[in-house]
This record gives sequence, structure tokens and C-alpha cells, in this order.
Amino acid sequence: MLPLDPQADIGRRAWVTCPNCEDHLACATCREGRRCTDHWRYLLSHTGSLLHLQCPSCTHVWDHETGFGATRTRWTRPAGGRRPE
Ligand SMILES: [Zn+2]
Ligand SMILES: [Zn+2]
Repeated sequence: MLPLDPQADIGRRAWVTCPNCEDHLACATCREGRRCTDHWRYLLSHTGSLLHLQCPSCTHVWDHETGFGATRTRWTRPAGGRRPE
């Protein structure tokens, strides 16, 4: 487990699925695409629509391309298609 990034700030959160632990899959709120109080990620930084995120559950760090403005994050499916439910 990585330590939390020093830039991690609970005041800056993004609702993006974590590609590592996928903890949203067991959550009805997340699966409806709504903002869940448990399954958010730290928004460490962003460049345009590319978000640099860290998951508070598993501390995985990754970049996420939203394809939207940085203030309009939303759920996206992982590249490569839809996983079976
Ligand atoms: Zn995670
Ligand atoms: Zn959730």
C-alpha cells in the first residue's frame, strides 16, 4: 500500500471508479451513477480534463481522462468495454 499523497485533500474529491479495487461494484448507489458518500477518490491534481487520482480505499494512483471539463467529472466505463454484471 502506498502512503496517501501529500496533495490528497478531502476537500477535493472526484467520483470516479477505481480500476484497482473496483469497490463501487458492490454499491447500489455507485452503480446507479450517483455520488456516493463512501466511494470517492482524492483529486490530487488535474491538467485540463485529465485527472490525477488516488483511491482512499487501496491507495492506488492513476490518471483518468474524463473527456469533459475538469469541473464536470462523471462516471465512465473503463476502456475496453463493459464488464459483465
Ligand atoms: Zn481502489
Ligand atoms: Zn458507493
